[in-house]
Amino acid sequence: MDIQALVRKNILNMKPYSSARDEFKGTAEIFLDANENPYPSPYNRYPDPLQWRVKEKLAALKGVKPEQIFLGNGSDEGIDLIIRAFCEPNQDSILITDPTYGMYSVCAEVNAVNVQQVLLTPDFDLDLDAFPKTFDATTKVLFLCSPNNPTGNLLSTAKIVEVLKRFYGIVVIDEAYIDFATGKSFAQELAHYPNLVVLQTFSKAWGLAGLRLGMCFASEAIIRVLNKIKYPYNVNIRTQELALDALENVQQKEAWVKEVVKQREVMAKALQQLSLVEHVYPSDANFLLAKVKDAHGTYEYLMNQGIIVRDRSRVALCYNCLRITIGTPEENQRLLTALKKYTA
Ligand code: PMP
Repeated sequence: MDIQALVRKNILNMKPYSSARDEFKGTAEIFLDANENPYPSPYNRYPDPLQWRVKEKLAALKGVKPEQIFLGNGSDEGIDLIIRAFCEPNQDSILITDPTYGMYSVCAEVNAVNVQQVLLTPDFDLDLDAFPKTFDATTKVLFLCSPNNPTGNLLSTAKIVEVLKRFYGIVVIDEAYIDFATGKSFAQELAHYPNLVVLQTFSKAWGLAGLRLGMCFASEAIIRVLNKIKYPYNVNIRTQELALDALENVQQKEAWVKEVVKQREVMAKALQQLSLVEHVYPSDANFLLAKVKDAHGTYEYLMNQGIIVRDRSRVALCYNCLRITIGTPEENQRLLTALKKYTA
């Protein structure tokens, strides 16, 4: 597959921003090229624009090459750049599988890119029969989210593979919640699918939402395109340092995941026992989707109690559903106590 043929022509032909340090190999003693402040401060210098130290650590952890990684200001930056790189404004389309994460269509709309939607099946899996009816020659990027937000389930691996084989454009698999799942990441499949982009993030299992660091794993050809159009210094020094620290301490992330998954199962059972809860959907993420008798009323009641959950009742296939993040055992208990009072 020729990735270059999928890239917007103006992006293919443009010259990216360059700095004197791009060309310079080796160690310099004096840097008078970037108009920085020369006086000591931990942050007087620009960060490494390609974040090589973080990528090398991450590559070893994920079983990919550093050149197959793009790092951005949250995975939201990756979503935006993928759309900008591959979709011609006022002409091309992305395809999303509803219900799903909201930023795919927001980024498309900001970039004047059309959004085509195909519904998931009632059990929130891919509806392969519906795809050919929805996409057309303008469809350049397909977004799959697994585990899916807001439904919590993994999409079927066999169906994802089918999509990867059949779709000629870029296929993004957003794995923001993969650490909480029983299934395997597609990041190890890059060699088989040159059009695949896997998104992951430090915002969930790694406990670093405030840092804003997201990852794209893809073929070197795709990563080169994203690097070409990103802001020069898109990941700041502090974020790079703290990401390196986190990567030194994978056990911490794993311990959190274990605890959250345990609490998720406790909460699924406890919620199911409440009379206002009609159904708790199985989850491979760090949240639960619960169908309740009156989602909006329950949401407002909880808000008045100082507890914020997500009202997803106006989202396709999620009628009367709340999306509830797994908190600490104490927080979860407070939610249950409040919900019991509401039922009474
Ligand atoms: N993808 C999904 C499915 C998400 O739920 C989120 C955050 N809620 C993101 C991507 C964005 O994550 P971030 O920008 O924090 O990496």
